[in-house]
Amino acid sequence: MEMQFIYADNAATTKMSDVAVKAMLPYLQETYANASSVHILGQRSAAALFSARQQLAQLLHCAPKELFFTSGGSEADNQALISAAAIGRQQGKRHIISTAMEHHAILHTLEALEEQGFTITLLRPQKDGIVTAAQIAAALTDETCLVSVMYANNETGAIQPIKEIGALCRQRGVLFHTDAVQAAGHVDIDVQRDNIDMLSLSAHKFHGPKGVGLLFAKSSIQLTSLIRGGGQERGKRAGTENLPGIVGLAAAFKDAQEQMAPNTAYITKLRDALRAGLEQIPGASFNGSREHCLPGTVNYSFQGVNGEALLSLLANAGICCSSGSACSAGSLEPSHVLLALGLSSEMAQSALRFSLCTYNTMDEVQTIINKVADAVKHLRR
Ligand SMILES: *Cc1c(COP(=O)(O)O)cnc(C)c1O
Repeated sequence: MEMQFIYADNAATTKMSDVAVKAMLPYLQETYANASSVHILGQRSAAALFSARQQLAQLLHCAPKELFFTSGGSEADNQALISAAAIGRQQGKRHIISTAMEHHAILHTLEALEEQGFTITLLRPQKDGIVTAAQIAAALTDETCLVSVMYANNETGAIQPIKEIGALCRQRGVLFHTDAVQAAGHVDIDVQRDNIDMLSLSAHKFHGPKGVGLLFAKSSIQLTSLIRGGGQERGKRAGTENLPGIVGLAAAFKDAQEQMAPNTAYITKLRDALRAGLEQIPGASFNGSREHCLPGTVNYSFQGVNGEALLSLLANAGICCSSGSACSAGSLEPSHVLLALGLSSEMAQSALRFSLCTYNTMDEVQTIINKVADAVKHLRR
């Protein structure tokens, strides 16, 4: 018999929803034409592409022409930063502000821009994993061309004061990008209300397909294309559109948006039970913000315990979650996010992240708590 498992790693990726799978199916074998083809089937593909874009624009409160489909969150992040840097270069502004807890799609792109002569300020979040608008204000200079702050963090789930940071940037005439890959589908996003100039999201983090995402860029922003070729996405992203993926993205996002209130209520109940249970474990300490956070993300360090050993015991027990370390160049490095919060390497390396979704149950949460408690006890012996 195949081993039973509990999936609590939804911040890494999610299972596709029935809604998204059903929406995609017709575009795999029926309406499979290239959306650029002028024939009848191509017109049907173009119509589906048009309505997916329109639906997403409505949900995000922007114009359809401000959306650019990409291969995922990483590509959207790369294109946002590279485009803003190109605009900055034209204006003689070469300073970018971001945070030390961003995803590597942001951090590594910033490293590349630094090599090209940009000055990068990486702000450290407060102990609760939140960067304040006051920190951004203090870092802004006349040279600043871009501020990029993630909407919610992938390890702690901490939600950033995006609306406030956006308002500040708008007032100072600086472009504002947010990596909303963790937040999209889980918290309500409105690019107008939140004063966002550019935003990245990715379908596979909200029960859509992998390999498709989007970049929102206000119509006043001239994007730099990373992929040269045909004129798709108004010349800003060449390559035949991933129509099944785009349709799946739109369906998953609409579903997530429509079900957000009941989903949040359900996941929050599970999350609160998980927090309460893990807090009973001696030496457990909470990482992140208890109030300003995604409903499903839970991160704890377990003092004196090796996170990798813990992870592997849990893996043997059929529990899928993540640790506070990442494999980089063949060695285990403590998470840069937890270090940025001020944790010691040891505490960062003893961390576990659980990320829940609506497919999880209270029984599973109870099993997770029991297995973690057993594993921690075992490792401390
Ligand atoms: C997953 C993730 C990404 C990368 O998205 P992909 O679609 O996997 O490329 C970027 N930023 C954050 C915060 C993420 O969680």
